[in-house]
Amino acid sequence: MENNVQLFGAYGLLLAKKYLNEEDRPEGLHGLSDKEIYRCINMFYERRYGKSLDIVKNRKELYSFARKESRYYILCENIKMLIMRICNFDLETVDLFMLKNLLTIYGNIYAVIWNYVDDFKFEECRLSKLTKDEVIDIVRGVLTEVDPSLEWLKIYNDIFDKRIIYLNELDDNEFKKLNDTLEDYDEDNFENACVKTKKGDHLVLLTYEGNIGDVISTVHEFMHYIIEIKRDNKEVTNILMEFPSIFYEYYALIYLKRMGYSDKEIKYLESYRTCDLWNGIVDTYLLSHYIKIFVENYEINEELDIEYFSLIADDDVKNLTYDEIMKNVYEQCDACTEFIMTNPQHLEGVTSYVVGSYLALNAIDRLGKNTLYNMKDYTNNISDYNPYDIFVGLGIDVDKLELKNIEKRRKKIRN
Ligand SMILES: [Zn+2]
Repeated sequence: MENNVQLFGAYGLLLAKKYLNEEDRPEGLHGLSDKEIYRCINMFYERRYGKSLDIVKNRKELYSFARKESRYYILCENIKMLIMRICNFDLETVDLFMLKNLLTIYGNIYAVIWNYVDDFKFEECRLSKLTKDEVIDIVRGVLTEVDPSLEWLKIYNDIFDKRIIYLNELDDNEFKKLNDTLEDYDEDNFENACVKTKKGDHLVLLTYEGNIGDVISTVHEFMHYIIEIKRDNKEVTNILMEFPSIFYEYYALIYLKRMGYSDKEIKYLESYRTCDLWNGIVDTYLLSHYIKIFVENYEINEELDIEYFSLIADDDVKNLTYDEIMKNVYEQCDACTEFIMTNPQHLEGVTSYVVGSYLALNAIDRLGKNTLYNMKDYTNNISDYNPYDIFVGLGIDVDKLELKNIEKRRKKIRN
């Protein structure tokens, strides 16, 4: 029991009650009943306040105490896990380049993307209608340009009547049948996607809208398909997963513009991407604040949080009382913790989307014959590349990204 108190019963309660299955509890909390966990917290409470609570009557009070006392501990653990995922934890080697430069990369990405979003004006516009055959023809045109060897075109031709499925053309029965063949697919999730079947092959799921936007979504998902069949179960750094698809989306926009579709229409199509990107930025922005505190100090606690809070404070904040500031800081910390714990996959996807957009925008800025040649190589062999290769390959000045004293932090993060 003593050990468990040391382990911080509060942490156990919060995780056990709200987020974790029994088997996922931190080690020393395995097999403890809720009652025992409450007792741990009560012992911790006693030490803190020199009195105990009547557990039966004051569970609610005990719970809010636990939550308050454990919030930074849990946030720290979750930020650490998130950083590990961003820096290639799955590949079992920490990607030093990403780890070293995480903050600078985030900073660069935000600067590029804020500018991009800022420039952007949303104007409602009707998109030109296209039949499915016309969509297919344009996609063929794009593929012929981006891969003059015509290998991708051949793959597309081979799959479009069997493996490209238009979700909105299925009746309930067909949909259920499709759903049963998929490895994991959420019935509520009618999304454009490249998904894996139980047999281990891949399908491209699309919703046919009947306009030039279909070209963009087909190109995006088809590039996921290429990555999937080419990587052949080899691991790919998660943050590189969206990069090729986003690049070819931008390329398809250029292609459509050359075909004579109006600037206004192309801008409107681009606005979908920009909105997604905007949402991604919003979702990762709060996190980036804590990632910054964590990478610089290797911990996050109340004092550090307040310090950062006061650094970015504007005049409004300066007029707040200490209690009001604390309330803000706690709310921010709680929101962040809750968000990471309930959306781990979403956050991986969003990170991939934001980093992928940054890389794709860089590649599009330097568009030439070589770019297309390199992009084809990245796409076909993405599992052979790590982020560093691609940053260098795209001509991004990586020397400017370097941060110091990283070895030490790396060791700490690993344990
Ligand atoms: Zn995608």
